[in-house]
Amino acid sequence: MTQFSDLGLAKPLLKALTDKGYTTPTPIQAQAIPTVMTGRDLLGIAQTGTGKTAAFALPILHRLAENKKAAPRRGFRCLVLSPTRELATQIAESFRDYGKHMGLSVATIFGGVKYGPQMKALAAGVDVVVATPGRLMDHLGEKSAILSGVEIFVLDEADQMLDLGFVVPIRKIASQLPKERQNLFFSATMPNEIGKLAGELLKNPAQVSVTPSATTVERIDQSLIFIEAQRKRPLLAELLADKAVERSIVFTRTKRGADRVAKYLVASGIEAAAIHGDKTQGQRERALAAFKAGEVKALIATDIAARGIDVNDVSHVFNYELPNVPESYVHRIGRTARKGKDGVAISFCADDERPLLKDIQKATRQTIPTFDRRNDKSLAAAAAVADKLAPPEKYVDPRRADPRNNVPSELRRQRNRPNKGGGQGQGQGRNGGGRSGGGQNAAAKSGGGDFRGPKRSGGGGAVTAVETRWTPID
Ligand code: AMP
Repeated sequence: MTQFSDLGLAKPLLKALTDKGYTTPTPIQAQAIPTVMTGRDLLGIAQTGTGKTAAFALPILHRLAENKKAAPRRGFRCLVLSPTRELATQIAESFRDYGKHMGLSVATIFGGVKYGPQMKALAAGVDVVVATPGRLMDHLGEKSAILSGVEIFVLDEADQMLDLGFVVPIRKIASQLPKERQNLFFSATMPNEIGKLAGELLKNPAQVSVTPSATTVERIDQSLIFIEAQRKRPLLAELLADKAVERSIVFTRTKRGADRVAKYLVASGIEAAAIHGDKTQGQRERALAAFKAGEVKALIATDIAARGIDVNDVSHVFNYELPNVPESYVHRIGRTARKGKDGVAISFCADDERPLLKDIQKATRQTIPTFDRRNDKSLAAAAAVADKLAPPEKYVDPRRADPRNNVPSELRRQRNRPNKGGGQGQGQGRNGGGRSGGGQNAAAKSGGGDFRGPKRSGGGGAVTAVETRWTPID
């Protein structure tokens, strides 16, 4: 089997890898590293968890060190664009980690924090900048950043960029890059628009795709509980109280929803923290650090905030609300069962969400085992207490919500403000108005018996031909 030492990487990189205890490259690393080292463009179909960050960071550091030179003032030799602040931070940490014996400089540029320190970091020139598109546009507009020195351009999580409405800023940024450069493009999926963008940005790219594998999803014990919308919180608290739940991510559809769930759990004596785009950078970092340290049992997150976050040992994923897009279901549950471990994914489904469930079952070609906890009196009593702690949120069928709301607020403002650089945001649709409560009337009949707690036995249901786009690191 290929070892890192076989790939021709510079000695300081091999030393950093040894420090980390990594000896064997993951499939995407084994394929991508030799190609990127030659300077060729690359199109990588892979998502977080495959080791894709090192797949580009290692050969980039190798190339930069091979031909050491000063970056221009306010400029940088390598630009990595990331959709979220958390991912940008993680990528920058990886560059620093792998490059720690090389003396190369790394800076992050993202919104939600002051401009001053970023300007200062850029002033003398940097080797590697990891940026979110909105804030980078701001710096370009203010001329506190220039792109003329970029030799290597990386676009990470391109499909997520599309979801966040970042394609226009990306095209603008790309138009300012030097013509002669190396391009690396990573995406978990290849919707048409992303394929088109890749075609515009890449020149004769090598293609690397991690072998589709169902093993991650197969290892996840999936189940779904039918439950009235307003009883989800007490049900969640009940399930989280189980000792088997060591570390869990709870997905909500909205930022406000995440806050309400976190507030209720904390009031119920469960260590929980919310993470989403309305939180300050400091709050987000503290919540994530507490979660990684095991001080917080449940991290309540919106899809966008959670995407790209690499946390090991997540024992359970809860879909407090089903995602609007079936693909997100696979991304979400893939946060557990990482690195060869088992995992449990439990989804809640109120009557309004049944069409979403149908979409998920259709898209993943699987039937998730279901349980019915509707009309449960113990939960009804607890729900009354929950309502007092944090009053119910208005609920809108996501299909009726305006998809334009998914554009980050700062970007939306910028769009209305011609010829001015945009900000960086964490776009989460804001559901306004509409029907309240969520379907409580248990009209539909559901399958399966009574669900009392997360069960690991029973084979996890019929998972067939689930299309996953990553290979776990075992
Ligand atoms: P990524 O897909 O880049 O987010 O990486 C997922 C996780 O795998 C990170 O925690 C990496 O540090 C880790 N990782 C990356 N490459 C390797 C490797 N070759 N061996 C073991 N772990 C790795």
